Formats: sequence, C-alpha cells, structure tokens
Amino acid sequence: MKILNYINGEYVEPLSKKWLDNYNPSNGEVYSQIANSNQEDIENAYLAAKEAFPKWSNTTIDERSRILLKIADLIEEKLVDLAEAEAKDNGKPLSLALAVDIPRASANFRFFGNAITQFSSEAHESIGLNTINFTLRQPLGVVGCISPWNLPLYLFTWKIAPAIAAGNTVVAKPSEITPLTAFLLGEICTEAGLPKGVLNIVHGTGPSAGQAIVEHKNIKAISFTGGTKTGENIARTAAPMFKKLSLELGGKNPNLIFADCDYDKMLEVTVRSSFANQGQICLCGSRIFVEKPIFEKFKKDFVDKVKQLKIGNPFDAETNIGALVSKPHLEKVESYIKLAEKEGGKILCGGKRVTVKGFEKGYYLEPTVIEVFDDQCRVNQEEIFGPVVTIMPFETDEEALQMANSVKYGLSSTLWTSDLNRTMRISKEIEAGIVWVNTWLNRDLRTPFGGMKDSGVGREGGFEALRFFTEAKNVCIKY
Ligand code: NAD
Repeated sequence: MKILNYINGEYVEPLSKKWLDNYNPSNGEVYSQIANSNQEDIENAYLAAKEAFPKWSNTTIDERSRILLKIADLIEEKLVDLAEAEAKDNGKPLSLALAVDIPRASANFRFFGNAITQFSSEAHESIGLNTINFTLRQPLGVVGCISPWNLPLYLFTWKIAPAIAAGNTVVAKPSEITPLTAFLLGEICTEAGLPKGVLNIVHGTGPSAGQAIVEHKNIKAISFTGGTKTGENIARTAAPMFKKLSLELGGKNPNLIFADCDYDKMLEVTVRSSFANQGQICLCGSRIFVEKPIFEKFKKDFVDKVKQLKIGNPFDAETNIGALVSKPHLEKVESYIKLAEKEGGKILCGGKRVTVKGFEKGYYLEPTVIEVFDDQCRVNQEEIFGPVVTIMPFETDEEALQMANSVKYGLSSTLWTSDLNRTMRISKEIEAGIVWVNTWLNRDLRTPFGGMKDSGVGREGGFEALRFFTEAKNVCIKY
C-alpha cells in the first residue's frame, strides 16, 4: 500500500520519489510506504492552494458550512473503517478510536461548519465624531497545518476545519508516524464536494516536508501541534518572516488530589487521565500530587487498579492499553523508567515490556507508577509522553501549587476537591491554560484551548481559532 499526497483533489506520487516505511506498532511490521515529500511537492501543494483561494474565500458562508457538515457526516459514516485504520497505524485500542478519535474528527468539522455561520465582524460607532468603524475578518490566504501522531485524525482536523471554514486554503501535513487516516481524509473531502485545491495533504518527515511548509515565503500562517523543541525550531524559522503562529506544544500536567475529594470518582478518572491512549495524550496528568492524609491509601488503591488494566493488541475489545506508537518512542519511555531508578524513585508497578501472544514484535509496555521523593528530579520535570506517572505527597495548598507550577510547561491541570474557595484560588494561581476540577478531558469546543509557558503560544478552539485564521482589518468611515 502507498500513502500518496492529495494535491489539487488528486492522489499523486511524490516528486521527490522518496518513500518511508510505515509501521504497525501492534506487531512491529511495515505495512505501507509513505510519500516523503520535499520542497517541490510542497510548492505544488502551495500552487494548488493558491489557485483555489480566490474562489473559496468568496464562497458563501452557507456553502462552506454545507461542505464542512457533509465531511462531518461522511467521517461518521466511515467510523469503523477510519477507527480501524487509526488503531492499526497508531497502536491505540480500537475501542478508543471508535469512541474518541473518529467521533471527535467528525465533531471538529461539524463544530466549525456551524461556528462559521455565527462568526461576525464588529462595528464601533464613534458617537459625536460622525464616524463608524467596522472590522473585516478576512481569510489569510494559504495556511499551513502540521500535526502530531498521538491523536492523528482528531488533531489534524482540529486545525483544518477552522482554517477552511474561515475561507483559507490549506497545505497540511500529518505526522509521518501516523499518516493513514489523513490519507483517507482526501477521498472524503472529494466525496463531500470540497473544491480542488482547498485542502492539500502532503506527507513526509518534519525536516523535509514540514520544514518546507514553514519556510515557504507565501504560506501566511502555521498552526502547529507537537513537541516543544519542534515548536522552538518552527518559531525560529517563521518569526522573522512575520507569519502568524499558533503553537500547541508539550506538557507535564499536574493532578492535585485533596483529601476532601469524591474519592471513588477521583480514583476512576485518575487511572484514565494517567493511561488513556497509553499516556500519549498531551492532556494526560503525568504528575500526581496527593494530600498527605490520603496518600498511602491512594497509593495502594491506585496501584491495585493500574495492575488490573489489560495490555493487549489494539483490536481486542478487552484491551485497555494498546501498543506505544513506535520503537524509538518505546525506548525513550523505557529510558525514563531507568532514569527514575537512578534518581532514587521507587517503581510501584509496571516498568517492563509486555509480550502479547500473536503480536510478539509489538511495542507494549506495562503502565508504570513511580513514587518520587523530589519534585525537581528529571522524571518529574521532563515530558515522557507514555504510560508513566509519578506520585508524591503534599501537606499544604501552597506546597501543592508550588510543585504544580515548578515545571517549564503549563498546558493543563486537574484538581480534585470539594472546596469552592480552594478551587477558585488554585484555578487563578495555577500556571496552565486549562484547569479541570473534578473531571478530566471534558471538552466544549467553544472554549479556548492551549498552553502557557513552554506549552505554547496562542489558543485554538471556538472563535479563537477563527480569529487566528483571519486578518482583522478596520475600516473607518467619516460621514
Ligand atoms: P513532533 O514535534 O516530533 O512532530 C509533530 C509534527 O511536526 C509532525 O508532523 C512532524 O513531522 C512535524 N515536524 C517535525 N519537525 C519539523 C520541522 N522542523 N518543521 C516542521 N514540521 C516539523 O511531535 P510528535 O512526537 O509527533 O508529538 C508528540 C508531542 O506533541 C508531545 O510533545 C505532545 O505533548 C505534543 N502534543 C501537544 C498537544 C497540544 O495540544 N498542546 C497535543 C498533542 C500532542
């Protein structure tokens, strides 16, 4: 099987004539070849997008909305095929792809297909001066969208949907580690009647295809989700060209668990927030801080529950934990487990590779809980992005907050407490773009989404995304 580029409404071979192996993480086998596009391929995608822009940017809101809603419907219709593709490409449990990834990809198109009908410009009358100002919100032109491997179609569409809803045309690149569902999205767009060139999907590595998008002098904005180091590189390239930039980067999210919380609910959700998608969600809570009076009880109950999680091949309905996305990633996660021991951490459970019958070469790892004794240790400071969490007790609210904030990241956080005053105080002081209280991964797509500090710049979601993908132009008329 060949994963081709989708340019100007057609599937095409890469001009680079270069290909990459695509692995199935559940059994370690290469099952397809991915186009490894170069600058020429990106130029072709750009030209198609440029050609499509004048017409698409003048297409009525109703028509744009109709097409986006049609794409949403088609994704829903193809739920099972897309979920199977995602599980195969990424190693995540099929049950998760069926319940979360693909429904959310459809929801992204539906949401922005509706949101654009409500997005308006503002008017300001300067009373007494006989002047009226109104603000046009015009599409930028050709924009670039680059996404990671952990929630492949979910995050890819989270960028593309607002970009095209706002009237832009797009050159988009999914992760070369998980390109399959983005490849399938091409034919869905054709079937939905999206005009040729509005969305162009190119495949390939970051340094080759990704870098060419970021460096392209006429691509006006880059919406990127991925690692902090990559974000830094992108900013270094794009900032001197004055491109608009939205960067959604890494995290090391704290879970603050207080003794007055709803314990059973907290325990159940904390297992999920630690290990869903093998811990490979940027919003997973990887640092768990527990108030002293319940620390020992939590430690025991949590470890008991984690040990019950079933590790298995992604297609088994019983599987809670599938395969990690790639061999290098598995090795990176394992290196942190070794480091934890060196740093004086105590492995309370997990830490070892798992051999799954019939899938012996897959990248399986036990969910791992590490008790740490110094919140500054590297395992507690650096993003691991796998099925590994640390736990540590705290005594006061101040201490909890201080530990929560003492990392370079600031993406999301979760509080478990029934105290309203504490909720308000910590929500204001915690350094994170998202604060969940007594819940996790509870998303309303209208809300601003993004991180502080090294977790990124800018916000996605709702009108924030539509503002990002438009240029505000004020028109001032004296009468
Ligand atoms: P990554 O940074 O390695 O790659 C992300 C994308 O960028 C891929 O498509 C890759 O090919 C491309 N890329 C790499 N180098 C590039 C370059 N020089 N120029 C342009 N593009 C380039 O990240 P990853 O390993 O795919 O994903 C994991 C990371 O993503 C984690 O750090 C995770 O926290 C983060 N993430 C963040 C969010 C969020 O919303 N903040 C969501 C999901 C994942």
